[in-house]
Amino acid sequence: MLECITVDETNIDEIVSRNLEREFDAFEEIDRAVQTILEDVKKNGDQALFDYSKTFDGVNLTSLKVSKREKEEALQQVSMEELKLLQKASDNIRRFHEKQVEKTWIDDNEDGKILGQLIRPIDRVGLYVPGGKAIYPSSVFMNAIPAKVAGVSKIVMVTPPDRSGNIHPFTLAAAQIAGVDEIYKIGGAQAIGALAFGTESVRPVDKIVGPGNIYVARAKRMVFGYVDIDMVAGPSEICIIADEGANAKFVAADLLSQAEHDENASAILITTSPTLAKNVRQQLIEQLDELERKEIASASIQNNGKLWIVDNLDVAFQLANAIAPEHLELMISEPMAHLSKVRHAGAVFLGEYSPEPLGDYFAGPNHTLPTNGTARFSSPLGVYDFVKKTSLIFYDRKQLCQVQQDIAELARMEGFTGHAKSIEVRFEKTDGHLRKG
Ligand code: NAD
Repeated sequence: MLECITVDETNIDEIVSRNLEREFDAFEEIDRAVQTILEDVKKNGDQALFDYSKTFDGVNLTSLKVSKREKEEALQQVSMEELKLLQKASDNIRRFHEKQVEKTWIDDNEDGKILGQLIRPIDRVGLYVPGGKAIYPSSVFMNAIPAKVAGVSKIVMVTPPDRSGNIHPFTLAAAQIAGVDEIYKIGGAQAIGALAFGTESVRPVDKIVGPGNIYVARAKRMVFGYVDIDMVAGPSEICIIADEGANAKFVAADLLSQAEHDENASAILITTSPTLAKNVRQQLIEQLDELERKEIASASIQNNGKLWIVDNLDVAFQLANAIAPEHLELMISEPMAHLSKVRHAGAVFLGEYSPEPLGDYFAGPNHTLPTNGTARFSSPLGVYDFVKKTSLIFYDRKQLCQVQQDIAELARMEGFTGHAKSIEVRFEKTDGHLRKG
């Protein structure tokens, strides 16, 4: 089980770089396999999708699109209580994301001049929902709802079928609650290929979002450029800053809640209290035994679990900022008073009664968060990921006349005489054509 390590201000960078190796080129073999799959889908369309479903999902499909009947049957298999629960979570997520809506603005305060920015939704979005080892209705909500709120007109979902060719009723129910328009039974890199290039059954989309295993993640990276993507998500991460007053049982439970995601997930405690670190260590041992996903959680704690002891909270925050974790929990007294010290984190959970799973499923903020230190420069998935901005410029003759020389000079400074001419031609004496108004 984990060692408790002392960290001080002088060794933060070394500790972070030694303990959180971020690999960039360990994927050659997987990339080759993914490349082959993508090329196959591009060349052979639906036939490639049917073949890969057989190879990787062990199922002989005759059609890829989920029918209306399948959707209705799925709803019948979900109890009224389960549907209400899904609806409740979806309402919270929608309400939160509605606050993110950005509006077109137009500034026409000056006579003869209008400037502005148009906000327009992306037309077609593809949503990957993982389905290999577990089911993720929460992923359906977190990806589809912001797209819907943004006004995306077509949301196309892909997810791998089970061995009988079905998709789990919870996933189908969540898709219907969230307003997904089309659903296809396709998983892995081949699903990403279908969304990016299109096949006989699947029309290509403009942007692909959603988490998946390494094949899905690498495929998304490869099709970027044909289409936009949200991010390339790495394994889940939690970092908890706790003081001597924190409850060791809660801290250990929260570390394990991320460790159970997969063997490469990371769970880090930074504490000012050596006693708490010892107690958390003991709690981890006891609580691991009770988990259904004990083997995965145990491997993750062994591989990437850390118990770091620091002198004071300032060092704790410096360390957390250097990690830039996906989830940061503050189990300290008066966490709000320390919020200004947080510079890099996907999401911050304040106090003992805001554990990370609250954000995973229910509170409303998006659970698709930057991992692998990318919180240094990126944000949670949101409505802003499903819109584009277009600039707006209008000058009338008088306004342009006032600045014509400035623009022409700037253009000539760059050697672009054509640009200068395009301004000047409008004010030449021989200008024969003047539009009214
Ligand atoms: P998945 O749907 O991502 O992958 C299953 C597909 O992988 C299969 O359909 C198959 O096509 C393909 N595949 C499997 N073996 C292959 C091989 N040898 N070669 C080529 N393709 C192969 O489901 P999963 O595997 O369960 O992975 C889901 C991942 O998504 C997990 O890592 C999980 O932690 C992650 N996840 C992340 C979030 C988040 O918000 N960050 C949420 C949910 C899930």
